[in-house]
Amino acid sequence: MGAIVAIVGRPNVGKSTFFNRLIRRREAIVDAVSGVTRDRHYGKSDWNGKEFSLIDTGGYVLGSDDIFEKEIDKQVELAIGEADAIIFMVDVESGVTGMDEDVAKLLRKVNKPVFLAVNKVDNAQRMADAVEFYALGLGEYYNLSSINGSGTGELLDALVEVL
Ligand code: GDP
Ligand code: MG
Repeated sequence: MGAIVAIVGRPNVGKSTFFNRLIRRREAIVDAVSGVTRDRHYGKSDWNGKEFSLIDTGGYVLGSDDIFEKEIDKQVELAIGEADAIIFMVDVESGVTGMDEDVAKLLRKVNKPVFLAVNKVDNAQRMADAVEFYALGLGEYYNLSSINGSGTGELLDALVEVL
């Protein structure tokens, strides 16, 4: 299957927009082991001649905050289990949230490359706002706009280096 990259993060940060921008073709979303369809989307992508599979985690969560949190834990667990690298996406429009902090806490313990992607950086003002994400304790981050595509190249350059 080649290298697997998981995109994790709380709902509405732009994971699926980013995923849809990158993938060339969708793969089956059937789990080979259990034979059941899971709430995840796979797609193939490539950059600088390197092919990889992307997982868009976390789909349809209905209900309370409590269920949201459980769902995110599950996403991160799956990512930790399966992925060779993780893109942790956050949203500059909303800034750092408690859920971002929870995910960051889990990811700081993961022994895999984690790329912090600050999404919705559609303009220069938002680039300045993004500095607050240093507070997540994950070091450098990548500014990007999944809508207009800016910054995605820099993130992908760094990502494929570790695959
Ligand atoms: P997900 O829940 O993390 O998969 O997020 P989605 O991809 O569904 O996006 C949530 C909302 O954010 C949608 O309304 C998107 O159009 C919007 N969005 C995604 N990326 C960007 C971006 O780069 N800039 C802006 N301004 N909005 C974005
Ligand atoms: Mg989504």
